[in-house]
Amino acid sequence: MNRALTLKVASIERETEDAVTIHLKQPLLRKIRYTAGQYLTLEVDVDDQGAKGCRAYSISSTPGLDKTLSITVKRVAGGKVSNRLVQQLAKGDAVQTLGAHGRFTFAPQPGNRRHLVLFAAGSGITPIFSILKSALHFEQDSHVSLIYGNRNSDSVIFRDKLEQLQRTFADRLHVVHVLSQPTSLSQQGGRLTQRRVTEIMRTLPTRDAGNTEFYACGPSGMMEEVTGALETLGVDPESVHMESFTPAKSTQPPQSSNQPKRVQLLMQGQEFSFAVPAGQTILEAALASGVQPPFSCRSGFCTACVCTKLAGDVEMREDHGLSSAELKMGHALMCIGYPMTDEVRLQVE
Ligand SMILES: Cc1cc2nc3c(=O)[nH]c(=O)nc-3n(C[C@H](O)[C@H](O)[C@H](O)COP(=O)(O)OP(=O)(O)OC[C@H]3O[C@@H](n4cnc5c(N)ncnc54)[C@H](O)[C@@H]3O)c2cc1C
Repeated sequence: MNRALTLKVASIERETEDAVTIHLKQPLLRKIRYTAGQYLTLEVDVDDQGAKGCRAYSISSTPGLDKTLSITVKRVAGGKVSNRLVQQLAKGDAVQTLGAHGRFTFAPQPGNRRHLVLFAAGSGITPIFSILKSALHFEQDSHVSLIYGNRNSDSVIFRDKLEQLQRTFADRLHVVHVLSQPTSLSQQGGRLTQRRVTEIMRTLPTRDAGNTEFYACGPSGMMEEVTGALETLGVDPESVHMESFTPAKSTQPPQSSNQPKRVQLLMQGQEFSFAVPAGQTILEAALASGVQPPFSCRSGFCTACVCTKLAGDVEMREDHGLSSAELKMGHALMCIGYPMTDEVRLQVE
């Protein structure tokens, strides 16, 4: 990971039984610039023999507001990296990151007046929390509604911080908790289904109706329900922004000849050559050939597997984590990239 930066853990804050916020010290000379909603790609030791795992974690701190760069991680049962981060990471430890990426972003426009409707479930609150704070602090005429699904009140990440923000911004922040296993009669039970989302949307204070933006982050099932509800309500799809933590459903590979293509990959001073059968991504073929490039999400978002095209052509589907500037520089993502010419030469920085 030559592009990697080393960050030291400044402190760790427990949010729920299975989630922590990790506050990272920024290096003085190479600070990471980020926008609310983006994520860090981290490389972490996953065992004591030096095996590494590379994963994306959304940034829960807010640029211009919070002193540390923070991520919030929820433990996934049996998960290699999340368990390491939640259970073993300690103050003073170092983590490596490839920097901030992602197009699920919110850039505040001071003076703008709009209504942000935010949907989150479980750890999907992480980028949403950064966006929420950014809107409340830097768009002083805008309103924010958060619809947040969890199992019960003990599993609500940022519960106390949200209560504090509700006190501070009482007239601009509206929070609806939806708990699938409520523990008291005063709590609203249920799940974020299409019907429930539609009902809640009808109860939200109507504000700046012509200038409403929607952001949603959570498991793919919840996102489908939210999308369905917004469609039913006639919301303009252009105003809806979505981020998923789990790989997108696989898409059809682009059309090319049925002949395998040959990829030469320059990585860490070595050259690897492998065949990519028709219909396989470059990453799939590399791993099948025993080549181990960095990768994480396998769905084109985290950019851990970015490489530069030195020769030949690679095609990717349109929604991915690279900017147009990065595309112009010849960058491509191996996890969603298909070779389109007989020979392709790539370099991993
Ligand atoms: C853009 C992006 C942003 C992300 N931001 C965050 C964040 O802010 N906080 C956070 O906690 N996680 C976040 N994730 C998820 C994170 O990157 C890891 O996928 C997650 O921590 C699991 O990694 P693991 O190594 O522990 O599990 P693995 O060892 O990779 O997987 C173990 C098992 O868990 C399943 N699994 C993997 N990921 C998930 C998941 N997210 N939910 C449920 N089951 C899963 C796998 O299918 C497998 O069965 C984000 C992912 C992406 C792509």
